[in-house]
Amino acid sequence: MTEGLTGLVITKADKSYDLVRRDKNLYFSYYPRVIVYPNNITDVINAVNWARNRGLNIRCRSGGHNYESFSVGNDVVVIDVSNLLDFEIDINKGYVRIGAGYSQEQLYSKIAKYGFAFVGGSCGSVGVTGITLGGGVGYLQREYGLVCDNLVEIQIVDAFGRVITANLYENQDLFAALRGAGSNNFGVVVALTFKVHHVDKVIVMTAQWPKKNRYEVIQAFQNVGEHLDNRYTLKISMTKDTIRLYGVGLRSTAKEMEKALNVLLKVSNKMNYTKKHITFKEYLQRNKDFMSTPKGFKITGLLAYNPLGKEPCQIMFDYLDNSPPIQPTIDIGFLLLGGKIAENEGLPSAYPHREAKVLIQIDAEWIIEYSMYANDTVKWVNNLRKSLLPYAGFGYLNYCDINIPNYLYNYFDNNVSWLEAVKEKYDPCNLFYYPQGINP
Ligand SMILES: Cc1cc2nc3c(=O)[nH]c(=O)nc-3n(C[C@H](O)[C@H](O)[C@H](O)COP(=O)(O)OP(=O)(O)OC[C@H]3O[C@@H](n4cnc5c(N)ncnc54)[C@H](O)[C@@H]3O)c2cc1C
Repeated sequence: MTEGLTGLVITKADKSYDLVRRDKNLYFSYYPRVIVYPNNITDVINAVNWARNRGLNIRCRSGGHNYESFSVGNDVVVIDVSNLLDFEIDINKGYVRIGAGYSQEQLYSKIAKYGFAFVGGSCGSVGVTGITLGGGVGYLQREYGLVCDNLVEIQIVDAFGRVITANLYENQDLFAALRGAGSNNFGVVVALTFKVHHVDKVIVMTAQWPKKNRYEVIQAFQNVGEHLDNRYTLKISMTKDTIRLYGVGLRSTAKEMEKALNVLLKVSNKMNYTKKHITFKEYLQRNKDFMSTPKGFKITGLLAYNPLGKEPCQIMFDYLDNSPPIQPTIDIGFLLLGGKIAENEGLPSAYPHREAKVLIQIDAEWIIEYSMYANDTVKWVNNLRKSLLPYAGFGYLNYCDINIPNYLYNYFDNNVSWLEAVKEKYDPCNLFYYPQGINP
């Protein structure tokens, strides 16, 4: 039945099938036909040809964190790239070429030994390939741009089984498409080359305020964000009881950062204020992995192009005050955009929201003991999202949400037609179909 497939091949007959058939989001449960773990590009080509010849769709998987579990599905061929772990570094130019299987944690720690930082996101177990293909936000973003902005070359196996390299000079259309719209759309990504940066020490600043100050904190955060130096990336996040600040500063003293954030830091009732000057390596070690406990989750993102005033804030407060009683408690995050993300407007990419000011993340995660609230929680997130639409909107591919209608427009805005042309070129029969994919 699996003749022609090479690498590690897992079917329903294998004991490990139940362990590997699901993504990280335990709200979903799918039964793929087969899960292939290629050891090299030939194994990937064999898997693509095998699926195509049998009329089966392919779902690619790297870290398995997709919010809607789109990297698996019923009766599909899952190509899990996590064993593709080649590694080359050019310390003079600051480039690293890796196989598509790295988790962020693996890559961060591997290049930290050479004094470099990868411009990645916050959670160690997220796949480098997954985060890059959807854009990629993180704590170095205002200085160095999106994760995909730091991609300099990428290699895929397309639907015909061809190995294609894309960069600024070769297959430019594919290169731009893979920067922000690449998730399971054009082929299996097998290798990526990134620009990496020397980052020595960072300032990490944290503070917390009680619920009664949350409106003031959001307003001060937005005011500070209007003219903030690119060296600083900030996020605030609120639960129903508290609102917290988490900020990272590069090439800065604590004094300089305090001055830059003055308007925010002087909001009254500040508690648990910390400022630590630590190495980037220590900073990474402190960032815990949110997926270390098995969980279900519903997370969505909205982009705010204009400041959030009284009405949207009140909507969020009312929702939080009446949120489902899951553990951990629901969190709404506000990540400050701008900086290099906006300055990179001219870079060829499919990510359209460079002028947005804030990425709002509605984050509901529940440990499995609270699964009885799962459906109510999903409804709660959907309703809150809908209520905020007059004030913020669109969507971010890495925060994909099955409930976003007209998803292509919301993720890619006016890039949709050229993306469809790229799809036609590399996957005209939609072998890489998934519910929110680009159609040829
Ligand atoms: C705890 C947590 C923290 C997060 N933090 C951040 C953050 O800081 N910044 C941010 O931007 N996002 C963040 N995200 C969102 C994350 O970037 C996306 O969920 C991302 O798509 C996950 O990538 P993955 O490889 O882990 O997941 P996967 O589910 O393996 O892949 C994600 C998507 O990419 C496709 N894909 C995977 N591998 C390949 C491949 N080789 N070729 C082609 N397509 C492929 C999949 O089919 C799927 O559609 C976070 C998510 C979680 C759960």
